[in-house]
Amino acid sequence: MAAEIEIVWLIDGDPPSPLGGRAFYPETPGAPPPDATLMAARFAAMREAVAEAGAPAVVTLHTSPRHRRDFFDPPYADEWRSCLDRGMALALHPHEDLADGKNRYGDADHITGVIVDCMAMARRADLPIAAFRSGSFAWNAALPTLLDRMGIGLDLSPGPGLRMPEKHVDWPAEPDAHRYRCTQLFAVPIGWNGTGTDLDRDYLFLERMDFARLAAVWDAIRARVQRRGQPARCNLLTHGFGLADPHWRALALQFIDHLRAHGGRVISAEQAMEPLHAHHA
Ligand SMILES: [Zn+2]
Repeated sequence: MAAEIEIVWLIDGDPPSPLGGRAFYPETPGAPPPDATLMAARFAAMREAVAEAGAPAVVTLHTSPRHRRDFFDPPYADEWRSCLDRGMALALHPHEDLADGKNRYGDADHITGVIVDCMAMARRADLPIAAFRSGSFAWNAALPTLLDRMGIGLDLSPGPGLRMPEKHVDWPAEPDAHRYRCTQLFAVPIGWNGTGTDLDRDYLFLERMDFARLAAVWDAIRARVQRRGQPARCNLLTHGFGLADPHWRALALQFIDHLRAHGGRVISAEQAMEPLHAHHA
C-alpha cells in the first residue's frame, strides 16, 4: 500500500492590518474599507497562482470587528464569484480581535451571533460558504455544532499542539483529520511535523518558512504516514499578501510541485469533506 497525503490549499485573504505585519482588526469606528486597488491586485494574484498550480484552493472571506461587512459588499462579491468560477471554495474567517490584543473567541454567544449574521450576509450576496477558518487558530467548543447547523462541512482552524490560552488557542497534539462528534463537520488541521510548536519551523505555514523547512515538515508528515500505514489529510496555509509577492508566490508553487512529486496531492474542499480512504498502489 502506498500511503498518500491529501492537502487542502488554504489562502487566507485577510486585508492589510493597520498595524504593519500583524493580523489584528479590532473595532475601529470610522475605519475606511480596505484599499480596493491593493485588494484587487491580491485577488488577481491568488487566482493566477491557483491557475498556475492547476490546483483547487480554499480562500477565506475575512470578517472582523473592523471590517465586519466590507467583503460582502461591492466590489468583493464579484471577486469571490470570479474565485468560485476558477474552482476555489470560500471559507468564513472571523478575526474577533479586541483592542487589548486578546479576542472574543471565548464568548460563545458573541461568536454565534457573528457567524449567524455573516452567513445571512453571504446568503444575501449569493456566496456559498463551504468552509470555516477561525482567526489566528482561536477556537470555541460551541463552534462544531453551530457550523454544522449553518451547513458548513469543513473546518480548517486546527493548529495541532498550539497553546495560547489567553487567545483561546488550545489544540491537542493531534495531527489527524477527523469529524467532530455528532456533526458532519470535518476538521483538517494545518500540516504539522509532530514535534515542535514553532510556527516558524514546525507547520506548513508558507510565509513563515523557506523551502528547506517546508520540505522537512513534509518529510516528517510522510514518515508518520508510512509508519502508520494510513493516509493523511492536512492544510497548507498561505496568504493573499504572500501570493501577491513574487518571493512567496514562487515558494508556494515550488512547494506544491514538491509535494506532488513526493506522495501528496492537492484536493478540493468538497473532497476534503469525504471520509479518508486507504490508497492502494
Ligand atoms: Zn486571517
